[in-house]
Amino acid sequence: MTNKLIQGYEVVIGFETHAQLSTQSKIFSRASTTFGAEPNTQACAVDLALPGTLPVMNKGAVERAIQFGLAIGSTISERSIFARKNYFYPDLPKGYQISQFEIPVVVGGVIEFFLNEEKKSVRLVRAHLEEDAGKSLHEDFIGQTGIDLNRAGTPLLEIVTEPDMRSSEEAVAYAKELHKIVTWIGICDGNMQEGSFRCDANVSVRKPGAELGTRREIKNLNSFKNMQQAMDYEIRWQIEQIEDGYAIQQATVLFDPDTGETRSMRSKEDAADYRYFPDPDLPPLAIAPEWVERVRSEMTELPRVMATRFVADYGLPEYDATTLTQSKAFAAYFEATAKACGQPKLASNWIMGEVSRLLRHFDISIETIPVSSARLAALIQRVHEGTISNNAAKQVFELLWNASGDNIADEDALSIVDSIIEFKGLRQMNDTSALEKIIDAVITANPKNVEEYRAGNSKALNALVGQIMKGSQGKANPQQAGDLLRSKLG
Ligand code: ADP
Ligand code: MG
Repeated sequence: MTNKLIQGYEVVIGFETHAQLSTQSKIFSRASTTFGAEPNTQACAVDLALPGTLPVMNKGAVERAIQFGLAIGSTISERSIFARKNYFYPDLPKGYQISQFEIPVVVGGVIEFFLNEEKKSVRLVRAHLEEDAGKSLHEDFIGQTGIDLNRAGTPLLEIVTEPDMRSSEEAVAYAKELHKIVTWIGICDGNMQEGSFRCDANVSVRKPGAELGTRREIKNLNSFKNMQQAMDYEIRWQIEQIEDGYAIQQATVLFDPDTGETRSMRSKEDAADYRYFPDPDLPPLAIAPEWVERVRSEMTELPRVMATRFVADYGLPEYDATTLTQSKAFAAYFEATAKACGQPKLASNWIMGEVSRLLRHFDISIETIPVSSARLAALIQRVHEGTISNNAAKQVFELLWNASGDNIADEDALSIVDSIIEFKGLRQMNDTSALEKIIDAVITANPKNVEEYRAGNSKALNALVGQIMKGSQGKANPQQAGDLLRSKLG
């Protein structure tokens, strides 16, 4: 597929994401990382680099970086270096951030995902370990700024892509996939509101085939919705500037969700401005191949691997397999349903269709779905056997949804489903003579449709089948009704 152009411009986007690693303690100290503590109670002397202190690498943070690298097919550096990135800011009173510069712990790798059923892959440049800074608080202080240093020294993995994305939609899909991976492997809690997963979007535009345009970096996008809005605004703004004859200046910009606009914060620094140099307090980070192999052997099945297995074992289309592996809980629900009913494709259709629709409608997640996989499997079994039609099954499913909390064990799932079918009178009509009577009546009552069908309008047949379904109160098998009708009309 060719890339979508906006007013003749191609969009180019690269992402830098800060994922907060889910360790109990800070990256170089034993202070707690718990969110929401009283301001300035969780930064210790090491986090603030007070004289006489020395940082000590947290192994758990390194292990999480290794897990991430293995999850996306990166190279894990056997030896990486910590550097000081020097700048002063009120929330960084120590004057430098410990980060990785020349040799990061994770190099390369690819993130693959679907956008509108089309497969995309985004290459990663690197992922490196670094410490977070504190936080400036403006809201509670009139004319002043409060500083909370609790977050100082919290471990971050900064994940940097190549400028591979070609639309804001693709970039949001990338961010969602990345979010899925880090939460799936459990290295980050993914809580965007609390700042555990923050994305910076580098955006530029160019005429197709031209050199890369100058980029502007939108900082700290902390919801997928803001991300989409911010990039769309930025893209329109840049095109307008160029069309009006202005050149884009490289800059760091902030998105204001209230106005939906981005505005310049500062002109972008170059690496030289940070005067990076190796941190003399930290030895190089050495990762032995045995460590990497141990981590590899302990890793859970990854979403992409699981999706491939779903295609191979259950014969699902790749699109289904990808959708079903959107989270661990979702995948587990599918597998349990598919195994219990023996109809994986039907299970997939139900979960991607009716189940997802109701989850969205009631705004609940699959973890708290009121219909157990055993019950859904029982229902699918009855559909497969032809006991009820697919449409009637949707009614049964809604009743199952509302019947949660009845405390009936999953072993009795089939009998629950059967009693709802009988109680609601939804059993499909298998009696051909009764069905034929209805069909004859429909033919007599709708001469115009019959005429049209015979004149070659196949749509007229659908109208007649609709009437038959109505006449049978939804109990006819539409396939069977259509077949019988066609043979009668000759
Ligand atoms: P810096 O060192 O200033 O952070 P990088 O070269 O590391 O700059 O790039 C930062 C991010 O910007 C990367 O994700 C990269 O893919 C992206 N990027 C670089 N050039 C462009 C461009 N012209 N348009 C959009 N994104 C870009
Ligand atoms: Mg950068």
